[in-house]
Amino acid sequence: MDPTARAAIVTGVAGAVEVREYDLPRPGPGQFVLEVELCGMCGTDAHIYRGRLASVRFPALLGHEIVGRLAALGEGVATDHAGRPVAVGDRVGVFPSLSCGRCFECQVRRRPGNCPDRRPSYGFASPADRPPYLTGGFATHLYASNAGTVFYRTDLPAEVAVLQEPLSVALHGVERSAIRIGSTVVVQGVGAIGLMAVAAARAAGAARVVAVGAPGARLELAARLGADAVVDLGQGTSGRRRAVFDALGREGADAVIGTAGSPESFTEALGLVADGGVLAELGNFTDRGTVPFNPFSDLLKRDITIAGVYGAGPDMQRRYHEALTILERGGSPFEQVVSHRVPLGRVREALEALGSGYALDGRDVVKLAIDPSA
Ligand SMILES: [Zn+2]
Ligand SMILES: [Zn+2]
Repeated sequence: MDPTARAAIVTGVAGAVEVREYDLPRPGPGQFVLEVELCGMCGTDAHIYRGRLASVRFPALLGHEIVGRLAALGEGVATDHAGRPVAVGDRVGVFPSLSCGRCFECQVRRRPGNCPDRRPSYGFASPADRPPYLTGGFATHLYASNAGTVFYRTDLPAEVAVLQEPLSVALHGVERSAIRIGSTVVVQGVGAIGLMAVAAARAAGAARVVAVGAPGARLELAARLGADAVVDLGQGTSGRRRAVFDALGREGADAVIGTAGSPESFTEALGLVADGGVLAELGNFTDRGTVPFNPFSDLLKRDITIAGVYGAGPDMQRRYHEALTILERGGSPFEQVVSHRVPLGRVREALEALGSGYALDGRDVVKLAIDPSA
């Protein structure tokens, strides 16, 4: 094993990113070291970079969508979380957080995300200038220092395995939207989460999936991932609504999954739900403002349900596993979703691209991943 590791450290809010060198740790009991192959970057990283997540302090090592090969195993690490044997060299996806599994929140309420003994998650642990070091995925190596870290072995290509986290978010949305066999579904927004929601809705048994978004290349990918019809943004709110209803073949969907992420898009999504249907809103992940809302005419009279969907949810560990099984089943061109593989030296550029415009190297970003070997 190469005796040193490199990591891209964000030095301050919206500040410089330095690639620093570290000695490789020797894993203790229950720990392991991973050679990172690919680490997805998402909107959450861009928000942290802008200082919008108070729990993360700087300097910070980000990156929580981590795929790599096991480089060193501590005593007692012999199987993945599903009980399959593992050895040095195996590719695994790492679940970023760890909860106790024994407390009231973990066992009774099934909300390990609310566990009071939750450890700092990989990619969110801070600050990065103190041990244990190498606790995020934007690095050549990850030190899985939390004994008992959850990980899954997989033979998928790294660019598919890296979708495990975004797909787990989409699965949370699909679950909250109560999609059943034969449901009609609208997915609003065709970023990485929207694309994963298309695939997840399809896996859940939707009879008709309509994706709404832009630009054209992403809509084409949505179609390849299972959308029956796509509607381009460029026709104004009322034109879009008519086009969506035409594509559905009826006036409203059983389930709308909102991933677009503005207050206005929330209002628009509400208008796409059929009476008695569900809006599962994932997009407004940070505070972007309020909208006018009439409890009588927007909610009760229409007998609809609005579900808030915050990331992969409080029981994300289960969805993480389910996401992997869907990716492993295959049948969709998941390998086309990662549009950019970016080296450690360009982490800042990548974070800034996701914070504004979603373009890098003159191309639209669908899903960006940091490739430490690039
Ligand atoms: Zn993420
Ligand atoms: Zn717990």
